[in-house]
Amino acid sequence: MTATRILCLGECMVEMAPREDGAYLRNFAGDSFNTAWYLRRLLPDGFTVDYGSAVGTDAISHSMLAFMQEAGIGTDHVRRIAERTVGLYMIELEHGERSFSYWRGQSAAKLLAEDEAALLRMMEGAGLILFSGITLAILSADHRGNLLRALARARADGATIAFDPNMRLRLWADAREMCDAVMRAAAHADVVLPSFDEDGPNYGDATPEETIARYAKGGATTVVVKNGAGRIHAFDLREGHAVFDPVPVTAVVDTTAAGDSFNAGFLSARLAGKGLVESLSAGAALSARVIAARGALVP
Ligand code: ADP
Repeated sequence: MTATRILCLGECMVEMAPREDGAYLRNFAGDSFNTAWYLRRLLPDGFTVDYGSAVGTDAISHSMLAFMQEAGIGTDHVRRIAERTVGLYMIELEHGERSFSYWRGQSAAKLLAEDEAALLRMMEGAGLILFSGITLAILSADHRGNLLRALARARADGATIAFDPNMRLRLWADAREMCDAVMRAAAHADVVLPSFDEDGPNYGDATPEETIARYAKGGATTVVVKNGAGRIHAFDLREGHAVFDPVPVTAVVDTTAAGDSFNAGFLSARLAGKGLVESLSAGAALSARVIAARGALVP
């Protein structure tokens, strides 16, 4: 994989997270954004990491953009839409369990793929483009079509496309719509990064090998099946099959962004020319660090 410009596409939200004293901390997070944030920290300066999305023109949208820029993430392709603002989620602690409430139905990011020409401009010159099942889920069917056509064009122009299915049933009309949309999108991807706890039940895959086979048949050249603390199964067209056993994290503090940070660790190792097993190890090492601390973005 050769690339110096990375583009991650999706929705970054305001996160309100409770502190121990009951006050709330305002953060910014979202799956593909979390991966962009970790990629920026992992990759050498010669790489550019851009985020592709949409926000409002209000104060909180400006704060989000400033946060991205301070993290070294390019925001030239974050559209500003005056009539909308950014989405928000709140974390509540109930008997020690975290539960999430979302306000994102009218978020600006839902319009990130409204303009196909803008998507093509956004993707121009990108060597690696990452999107997810959540990126897809927030779009209308028409806009999803715009996104997939633009990705196909970028791929034909030489970009590597990476896709994390990140299946969130509540963002879809039903399981059938979600499963169909994810498989259609995966057909545009070179690298697919599913989690077995989602893909297994949703597609009836009995084993991670079946998950690999399904995406490989769809055209992916690299598939990595994450599996919580369990064995990671991977396949690459040139390197064949590989497995990696993560060192179990016993003191798990917060699993938010386990998969997102894994993706960043894995992809940055691939960009550095590392082999499959070494790259799985890099992904697992980063996510182990992330789940041992609070929050999605662990410095
Ligand atoms: P997601 O957050 O997408 O559901 P997973 O839960 O499958 O992703 O976890 C992603 C990666 O995080 C795993 O492949 C593994 O490397 C790491 N991980 C998750 N839970 C643990 C754990 N308890 N111990 C060690 N590593 C873990």
